Amino acid sequence: MVERSYFDWNATAPLRPQAAAALAQAFGAPGNPSSVHAEGRAARRLVERAREQVAALVGAEPGNVFFTSGGTEANMLALTPAIETARDKRPRDRLLLSAIEHLSIRTGGRFPGDMVEDVPVKPDGCVDLDALSGALARASRPLVSLMLANNETGVVQPVAEAAAIAHGAGGLIHVDAVQGPGRIACDIGALGADLLTISAHKLGGPKGVGALVRRADAIHFPEPLIRGGGQERGMRAGTENVMGIVAFGAASAAAREAWPAEAERMRMLRDSLEAGLRAITPHAAIFGEAAERLPNTTLFAVEGMKAETAVIAFDLEGIALSSGAACSSGKVQPSHVLAAMGVSPALVRGAVRVSLGRTTTEADIERFLAAWRKLAKALSKGHSIAA
Ligand code: PLP
Repeated sequence: MVERSYFDWNATAPLRPQAAAALAQAFGAPGNPSSVHAEGRAARRLVERAREQVAALVGAEPGNVFFTSGGTEANMLALTPAIETARDKRPRDRLLLSAIEHLSIRTGGRFPGDMVEDVPVKPDGCVDLDALSGALARASRPLVSLMLANNETGVVQPVAEAAAIAHGAGGLIHVDAVQGPGRIACDIGALGADLLTISAHKLGGPKGVGALVRRADAIHFPEPLIRGGGQERGMRAGTENVMGIVAFGAASAAAREAWPAEAERMRMLRDSLEAGLRAITPHAAIFGEAAERLPNTTLFAVEGMKAETAVIAFDLEGIALSSGAACSSGKVQPSHVLAAMGVSPALVRGAVRVSLGRTTTEADIERFLAAWRKLAKALSKGHSIAA
């Protein structure tokens, strides 16, 4: 049997052992956190303990963490004109989105299409702050949504600068930080974010649970996405996903504890992967390399390669990776991220993403490079992985 190496951590990270243990423990908790009896109170304690752990991960108050079914739902909850602050109860009149946001943001949430405006990125993959300032000047009560780090290129966005500009223009800023925790600093106060989205499964928790975090309790959502029993202080109705939330809390605590040592190890391995890639194919393009990137991500292409075919060829060699974004797996679409960076369509078609994680080893890097040597050779001869 071919040994496998998993290089798709930006799509999802394997469960951390601490999260698996917490999950197993929560199996035994029978109560509904809203019930007043002892069983209910025990379940409530588990949820509130997890809320503290998630809050600590991003430097927030536990009371400002609202659990959701994942990053997508947290993004949808955040993107609404109906956000009230203590000083301003009027609806937001504009949504400004960077051109490289995840599709769950690109849809604009609950904003009507004609209120949504794109902010371009520069060729290095960073949002254009001058263009953001210009767009802010044309709006009176804008909401900006800017991701902390891009899921395809790994490029880290200048969020703190963007937040200062947005606040200076009377705006609010939401940050999709799904790819950040455990890899780069992700403190809601230091980032200047008013709202922050995180997702458990990207940091070693289970899939299907996430959170929207607010910086201050002065921010309100009078029209939550899901109404009903008033759970999550009216922000998100429905009996809490106790097991998922407990494991999310445990994964958050473990990720916080392991950072930054875990991230530094990933960076060393990723850098050696890129050095090897360059030695085999000096003409390979590594996207976003001129900017600060996540320590675990490499998105690369060589002319003439077709990403879907390369992904299958890698898979046969025991390497799990993906072509650009994995969210719409099965549906191959050219990357809007690379297109926004001005990359030529020929290269966009060949972009392959390698993302590392806490269990990646040097042997994995060697296996990747051996597979790439083989595929690049076939490619240069015009064989199977050529477009
Ligand atoms: N935002 C970013 C940047 C992502 O990478 C993803 C998932 O790929 C999401 C949001 C969606 O998160 P979830 O899978 O928890 O819905």
